[in-house]
Amino acid sequence: MKTATIVGAGLVGSLWAVYLEKAGYQVKIFELRDDIRNADISAGKSINLALSDRGWKALDTVNIGDDIREIAIPMTGRIMHSVKGELSYQPYGKEGQAIYSVSRGGVNAKMMDIAEKNGNAKIYYNQKCIGADLKNGIVYLENTLTKEKTEVKSDVVFGTDGAFSAIRYNAFQKIDRFNYSQNYINDGYREILLPANADGSYPLDKNALHIWPRGKFMLIALANEDGSFTCTLFMPFEGENSFETLTSKEAVDNFFKTTFADFYEMMPNIADAWEDHPLSSLAIVRCYPWTYGKTALMGDAAHATVPFYGQGMNCGFEDCTVMWDLMQKHNEDWDKVFEEYQTLRKPDGDGVQDLSLHNYHVMRDFVGDPNFLLQKKIEAHFSQKHPDKWLPLYSQVTFSNIRYSEAWKTGQKQDAIMKTVMAKFENIDSIWDSEEVENAILAEI
Ligand SMILES: Cc1cc2nc3c(=O)[nH]c(=O)nc-3n(C[C@H](O)[C@H](O)[C@H](O)COP(=O)(O)OP(=O)(O)OC[C@H]3O[C@@H](n4cnc5c(N)ncnc54)[C@H](O)[C@@H]3O)c2cc1C
Repeated sequence: MKTATIVGAGLVGSLWAVYLEKAGYQVKIFELRDDIRNADISAGKSINLALSDRGWKALDTVNIGDDIREIAIPMTGRIMHSVKGELSYQPYGKEGQAIYSVSRGGVNAKMMDIAEKNGNAKIYYNQKCIGADLKNGIVYLENTLTKEKTEVKSDVVFGTDGAFSAIRYNAFQKIDRFNYSQNYINDGYREILLPANADGSYPLDKNALHIWPRGKFMLIALANEDGSFTCTLFMPFEGENSFETLTSKEAVDNFFKTTFADFYEMMPNIADAWEDHPLSSLAIVRCYPWTYGKTALMGDAAHATVPFYGQGMNCGFEDCTVMWDLMQKHNEDWDKVFEEYQTLRKPDGDGVQDLSLHNYHVMRDFVGDPNFLLQKKIEAHFSQKHPDKWLPLYSQVTFSNIRYSEAWKTGQKQDAIMKTVMAKFENIDSIWDSEEVENAILAEI
């Protein structure tokens, strides 16, 4: 039987196991942690995530989309909360389009169940990858409980062990001419669980992603299935309005009371819950090559990004679709599959990182800016009239399978056009939906 090894049973590793099993491989998956199905899955990073079209496509390709739909909450737009507590709503796309809030642990556990169900995939826990022979498809492991060391050899190996990948660090980084960069942004994040109301109902509209944009920092909230919301505060580590200023209960209490007053009303005990989740950092990791010999990197191990477009997991899931298509195209000649995978996909790994950084600024600085909102309104109006000529950037990224690299290029062009057109008309506020503006955009395309 054909054999494959996967290092890391996170989101991408467990989905990729389902794919490989479908292709007839006997799959062994080695995971550093204990089985999350028996553990406290809320520990660690983001408790829930936004799943969008690329992710759904990858799940549907192996017929597991419907299993995940059972635990997904649609979010049709953003609701912005002003300092005064006023709410404004912006739809994400057209009628019927939505992104979906899913539980990281829930999705991961479902995919693990599905992968193991047919008996040809097995997950081994408390197994730390400590090295690899990339050329010959050998992975070196240590059992974190017994300290026993083992090695496993297979036809192909996949490193899906996340942003701080051990395969990448212990093996790829030893290859001559391997390029690698890791850049932390100035902001970190802390999660806060906003509980359900006493009667189990949601304290906020569950079908929207809530944002409290405050210039250099912001709070967001996504609904969980049990009536609660997972909220995340993104802000700089240092400086004015930073995590370093929120070191006492009193400071936290005061900060929320004055900055997020409507949130504070729902959660007056925020200071007590402040330390329930760790303060974490955010980085972009770029590297190349992504494949060597019998081994390939996928997901965050290849292209970890900051979470501001909600695309890290979606992009990792799309890696699976791309790799799968290439397996069919090259009849599982892995040398050819790996070569095309990395040349085709690397620009899109870069693209999703550029897009995520761009949206970091959009969400933090612009979603409350009237000019930005007007620009988006004009774009949406124009796009409705000329769908063949203009698909807004957010829709390209979230509601299409257009390559990330192309979306990023088109998005930059669109932005330049809009800046030119908006500067042309002093009274753009009042004539934004006029033929004049429409023609000015058409002239720039
Ligand atoms: C705050 C935050 C919010 C996010 N929000 C979104 C969102 O809304 N939408 C979205 O699409 N993406 C989002 N992301 C990104 C998403 O979390 C990642 O892109 C996704 O988890 C990548 O999946 P992965 O399987 O590649 O890596 P991971 O999910 O990190 O899985 C890696 C696995 O490898 C294991 N491992 C690590 N080291 C070893 C080792 N030495 N040996 C064996 N196993 C090992 C780990 O234990 C883990 O199980 C967010 C990220 C953050 C930080």
